[in-house]
Amino acid sequence: MNSEWYQELTRLGINGGISDQAILRTLLECDEVELLPLLAAAFAVRKYFHGLEVAIHILNNVKNGLCSEDCSYCAQSRDSRAEIVTYPAKSDGEIIAEAERAYKAGAHRYCMVYAGRGPSQQRVAHIGELIREIKKRFPLEVCVSAGLIDEAAAIALKQAGLDRLNHNLNTSANRYSAICSTHTYEDRLHTLRVARQAGLEVCSGIIAGMGETAEELVELACRLREVEARSIPVNFLLPIAGNVLSVPQNLTPDYCLRILCMFRFANPDAEIRVAAGREAHLRSLEVMSLYPANSLFMDGYLNTRGNSRERTLQMIRDAGFVIRSDKTLEELLAAERQQATSDDRAGQGVLLKVAQELRPTAQG
Ligand code: SF4
Repeated sequence: MNSEWYQELTRLGINGGISDQAILRTLLECDEVELLPLLAAAFAVRKYFHGLEVAIHILNNVKNGLCSEDCSYCAQSRDSRAEIVTYPAKSDGEIIAEAERAYKAGAHRYCMVYAGRGPSQQRVAHIGELIREIKKRFPLEVCVSAGLIDEAAAIALKQAGLDRLNHNLNTSANRYSAICSTHTYEDRLHTLRVARQAGLEVCSGIIAGMGETAEELVELACRLREVEARSIPVNFLLPIAGNVLSVPQNLTPDYCLRILCMFRFANPDAEIRVAAGREAHLRSLEVMSLYPANSLFMDGYLNTRGNSRERTLQMIRDAGFVIRSDKTLEELLAAERQQATSDDRAGQGVLLKVAQELRPTAQG
């Protein structure tokens, strides 16, 4: 492809995005589309809508595991044998303290995740109280992920001040029954529709690497365009031992970057988040993900760790990006380094104490 072709991609991206599925498939499948000019074209669209900002998201697994559903990619599924810590909902105090930590770490949005099929009426009311409290205390936007919800729940959450509801589509309509049998793609789509009708912004993402075709990825990107998803987490399947679906397919760093570019062109002004699996699947090309994507998760994912905060912040700074926060990257990096030093000292103190306690035993 010549340089005019890539320039035309940028032009289309800036002027409403690309909905032609044949063009979008080309970005994933055609050998003549070279990665670097493709990234440059996607970066121009990203920069037009979002500048050089990176929005940092921190997840809080408020309720983990014990789920009735059988999503085969998920460590919290009833069928997963993954060794995870399960717990019912955390206390309000813990949740609010974690919101404060997220704010101090530079997060612009705080996302509370409740594992499960969907919340009871009582839980919706409780989530509403938490949203009000968090927003009263910190200038954070709040996102909730709580499974399938109905109209009444969507309205109640909107009235409580919720900014965004997360509910991922994960894969294409055709493939959905291959990854889950306890609910349908249509159920998930319904949740997104009622959230939009209640006036909530919608965050909805995907998991690549579950055996889907390029055509199905393109269909998903276009479906998320139709439901006006303002935020799109692009996850890459993590190999978690014990999960029903634990072997990622067709994922190379090159392909992962192409997927991010394709989502950027299909959803040009959306917040495209490079989400779970960025470290494992993008490997040495991880930083390149910030050219099409303008957001990432810090502190790991629901049941797996990611890079350290310091490494993530340093990566953003080294590549010349800035963060969407009332703190600068320098301030946040300094705070992380100070924290790491005091953790080291505390660790050395514990080692010294253990050594002192062991000494009489060893001598005796
Ligand atoms: S993705 Fe959600 S609904 Fe599906 S098993 Fe995991 S926690 Fe349950």
